[in-house]
Amino acid sequence: MRYSGSFIHTLKEVPADAEVISHRLMLRAGMIRKVAAGVYDILPLGLRALRKVENIVREEMNRAGALEVLMPLVIPAELWKESGRWDVYGKELLRFKDRHEREFCLGPTHEEVITDMVRREVRSYRQLPLNLYQIQIKFRDEIRPRFGLMRGREFIMKDAYSFHAAEDDADREYQNMYDTYTRIFERCGLDFKAVEAETGAIGGRFSHEFMVLADTGEDVIVNCSECGYSANLERAECKELNVADMPSEEVMLPLKKVGTPDVKSVEEVSSFLKVSPDKLIKTLVYETDGGEVVALVRGDFELNEAKLKRHLGCEWLVLAEEDTVRRVTGAPVGFAGPIGLKIRIVADYSIQGVINGVTGANEGDHHYINVNPERDFKVSAFADLRMAVDGDSCPRCGGSMGLSRGIEVGHVFKLGRKYSEAMKACFLDDSGKEQSMIMGCYGIGVGRTVAAAIEQNHDENGIIWPVPIAPYQVYILPVNCKKADIMETAERIYAELVDRGIETIIDDRDERAGVKFNDADLLGVPWRITVGSKIKEGKVELKRRDSAEAELVETDRVPGLLQDRIREELKVS
Ligand code: ATP
Ligand code: MG
Repeated sequence: MRYSGSFIHTLKEVPADAEVISHRLMLRAGMIRKVAAGVYDILPLGLRALRKVENIVREEMNRAGALEVLMPLVIPAELWKESGRWDVYGKELLRFKDRHEREFCLGPTHEEVITDMVRREVRSYRQLPLNLYQIQIKFRDEIRPRFGLMRGREFIMKDAYSFHAAEDDADREYQNMYDTYTRIFERCGLDFKAVEAETGAIGGRFSHEFMVLADTGEDVIVNCSECGYSANLERAECKELNVADMPSEEVMLPLKKVGTPDVKSVEEVSSFLKVSPDKLIKTLVYETDGGEVVALVRGDFELNEAKLKRHLGCEWLVLAEEDTVRRVTGAPVGFAGPIGLKIRIVADYSIQGVINGVTGANEGDHHYINVNPERDFKVSAFADLRMAVDGDSCPRCGGSMGLSRGIEVGHVFKLGRKYSEAMKACFLDDSGKEQSMIMGCYGIGVGRTVAAAIEQNHDENGIIWPVPIAPYQVYILPVNCKKADIMETAERIYAELVDRGIETIIDDRDERAGVKFNDADLLGVPWRITVGSKIKEGKVELKRRDSAEAELVETDRVPGLLQDRIREELKVS
């Protein structure tokens, strides 16, 4: 492509709402432009990178035996009512009516549509298993669209759904997709990790998120450097405290109520009473579909609601409003404690080790000190209910766990019979008995993968594309377009690279060399050929975007050399 005929408009300044580096660089490099919040134009350069990711995804999904389909973006409400999600999905689901007053939504995900497609075609176990995928636009009315393509409202996703006659076959396909995702992100040239994620009702280890490792990521990953156990923060298990192993010299003192005027938060209480936060027993009232529950966690930890939900086996839970807290505890928010409460209390393991702790006294402006679990209050269960923290010991091997950040680019999940039962997607098994299909679903955010790649690969001058997803592979930079010999050489190399199928930009703009060098770095094309005064010696400068050094190469050798190097980098293991 000739830069002079391109649609690349680089920017020096970007709007203030572009907070993260990938968003800023995609705007600056002219890859995307905002049309509305979370809705973007994808310009030619951006689209080339997206298509690269799509092609890798498509090749690997096909290799894995999946079949490509294309489902509609506009979905009739009936299907979502059948699955039961129409009423529970919330505002991310954009609903609307057509001219006949029929209800529709824009698809944020396609379990309903695919289940409907498959139930209409499949009758017998002989037609299973199936894995169908699409690469298509999704719409989710995200509450806070941000970070450009990373969290858009309209975005491109590869979503796949598999259907099975037996559990073990669904488990085999789960592993097949896990391996396929590993190949996909390896081929994209990304540094990533597959981490255990929340499985909800399914249980087991059948949910993994694929995280691109980047300090700027929104997701927190917990990882054991010794055994390799890794999970997202929501999921990461914490070991049970072994109270017997932590003998304490401390003797239990008599329970005492003390005045704590307007002292509510953990910080306030610990500084007012001069005790460290690990002495505090944080008391949280939750409303759930199974009634109200009190959860306890040590003051220096955070409660993990996903764990609480799993422990209680409830469908939903929310932190209680002021009114409920008053009704349950008899005190305003900030003074709740477990002593004397008449409702179900569950406590995190960390509470087991508290001696002479502090809790609210269920009375405004008062706390108890010298509180001892079991002596002063009973709980219905101790369980793992807290968020993991840096330095926690690994639940698998006891090693030390660390926290790091990542960007979720893919998710594999075993769905089980949730949709097939609700929507009656059945088949006849080998004995002629009707059964519901077992399903799995597998998603990859295409735009988010491109953004994550930039988040992981950039410097102060711009993007540094991994070769496999670079919009172009080579950037030819003639330093002075007015010099005939320079342009002649540049054009000759350009023609030969194009003949060899190498994706090349020739910067034929009549611009100062400095401007071109800056743009070349900003666009992040992996190889740059600088055509300048060295042509007198029959040489040009070859430089990789990620290295400081350039090499001088004979002009005639450049195309062959680059072809070999690019092939090497794209080699599939
Ligand atoms: P998140 O927790 O980040 O909101 P999710 O759990 O809702 O993501 P899934 O429903 O598992 O996401 O969707 C599959 C993939 O689609 C994600 O792994 C991610 O790469 C991508 N994705 C999800 N939401 C968005 C979005 N708003 N913008 C861009 N990509 C997205
Ligand atoms: Mg997810």
